[in-house]
Formats: sequence, structure tokens, C-alpha cells
Amino acid sequence: MSGHVLRIEGLRAKVADREILQGVDLEVQGGQVHAVMGPNGSGKSTLSHVLMGHPGYEVLAGSVTLDGVDLLTLPTWKRLQAGLFLAMQYPIEVPGVSLEDVMTESFVAAGRVNEPVRELVAAEARRIGFDERFLSRPMNVDLSGGEKKRNETLQLGVLKPRFAVLDEIDSGLDVDALRAVARRIEAATNEDGLGVLAITHYNRLLHELKPDVIHVLSKGRIVATGGPDLATELERTGYAAYGGPDDQTESRPLAQNPFAPDPFADPLA
Ligand code: ADP
Ligand code: MG
Repeated sequence: MSGHVLRIEGLRAKVADREILQGVDLEVQGGQVHAVMGPNGSGKSTLSHVLMGHPGYEVLAGSVTLDGVDLLTLPTWKRLQAGLFLAMQYPIEVPGVSLEDVMTESFVAAGRVNEPVRELVAAEARRIGFDERFLSRPMNVDLSGGEKKRNETLQLGVLKPRFAVLDEIDSGLDVDALRAVARRIEAATNEDGLGVLAITHYNRLLHELKPDVIHVLSKGRIVATGGPDLATELERTGYAAYGGPDDQTESRPLAQNPFAPDPFADPLA
């Protein structure tokens, strides 16, 4: 463990006039992996947006600190400087700006002016199997879902945050990409003491990215916390025991239905 700590206490937040997070408490130590699982609409992405300071999500109560630094009063870029990183569920395309541009500016902002940013980026690209031709092209434009997630992971590897929130980093990944991404992040927890808050529906991510603690989020609250076995149990039983689906009014495509079988599950497991 690195001695770093991300602490979320009594966090309540609303979006579009609806209170979504209704008092979330979580504490992640450096080097640990905490998984947050829960039905669609339970507030998982809202939690990630609130942690990173997305405009439009209003904090009503509670606190978020990283090594004692109050993150909620900081603009997003300062939260990153303080050591928090978000891998987005839907990475955005940025026409006209390349990944190398973004990393170069990030290094300047972080005072890492003497480091060879291009070499570091290229080395990370090789490490996770990200095509180096994409590095100088507009960020995420025309990339597949899996390439976008490798891109997010590459940024994580180069920026070396203290804590990373991964919002469904496994969605849209084929088996090879999933393994590469999960292994890279697991390595960061061991090599750099990275602390991880991994939002996911599927246990398969957690086969490579070894969780220490599993939380179930339902209706904006953490309703259960346990060890890795809890993820296995959820895969079998769904969330029925924890309040069931939160979005019954909405029909969702099959791939997003938390009660549908994992399309990537190992049939022999
Ligand atoms: P999850 O990631 O667990 O599936 P979300 O955090 O995305 O859930 O959404 C939780 C609830 O908040 C849902 O009912 C969703 O419709 C609502 N919500 C989230 N973001 C917005 C937004 N920007 N505008 C309006 N409603 C939102
Ligand atoms: Mg989500």
C-alpha cells in the first residue's frame, strides 16, 4: 500500500433536479481495487462524474478528499493534478487534438517538463497494444470502442494518477483488449500503488484486475460490501436481492441489461 487514500463521505448529488446519489460512503487505499457494481440507473456513472467535477451534477452534501485535499471545491483539471483520473464510459472524440498534444499539455501542467513525453507515450502504446499510428491522429476519432478504451488506459499509464475511476472500462472490449487493459491497470496497482474504483457489470474484468472489495450500488446508495466472492454471487443471482433494477420504466438494449448473461463469459467457467 502506498499510504494514499481517497475518501468519499455522505455524498449526495443531483442531476436534472433529481437526487441520484443519496449518501455514498467509500474509502479506497492506494494499491487497492474496489469494484462498484449495480443495476443500470443506480448512479454509477453519476458517481464518476461527480468525483471528477462534471458540470450539471450538483453536490448536495458530503465530502470527497484525496490525501486530505478537498476535491469538491476544485475545478476538474486541479482534481487531476491532485491525483484523480477518470476513464470515461464513453470517451469523447476530439477533432483537431491528438493524444500526443493532450499528453504534452498535461505534462506541462504537471511540471513534468523534462520528461520525454513522446517516448513515454510510445512505450505505453506498445505495452497495451495500441496502434502507434493513432497517437498523432485526432483523439478517439474513428476509433473502435475497444481502441478508445485502450486509449484511456494509455493515458492512465502515462499520467500515473494516484487514484483512477474506471467507468465500465470493459464495455465494448473484446477478450484480448479486455485482458490487455485489465492487466495494465492491475500492474499499476502493484508498480505505482494506484488505487482503483472500478465500475463494472461483469466479473470478467475482475479476473485480471483483482478486486479487494466489492460494493453494490442501488438507488444511489451502497447497499452491500464484501470480498471478491460477492462479484461471483452477483453474476449468478443478479441484483434482485439488492433492490432489483432501478430503471424499470426504461427498456434497455440487451447488451446493457445487467440481468442478461455476460456475452463474453467463459462458457466453461
Ligand atoms: P448507471 O451508470 O448506474 O447506469 P447513471 O449514473 O448514468 O446510472 O444514471 C442514474 C440516473 O440518473 C438515471 O435515472 C439517469 O437517467 C439519470 N441521469 C444521469 N445523468 C443524467 C443527466 N445528465 N441528465 C438527466 N438525467 C441523468
Ligand atoms: Mg453508467
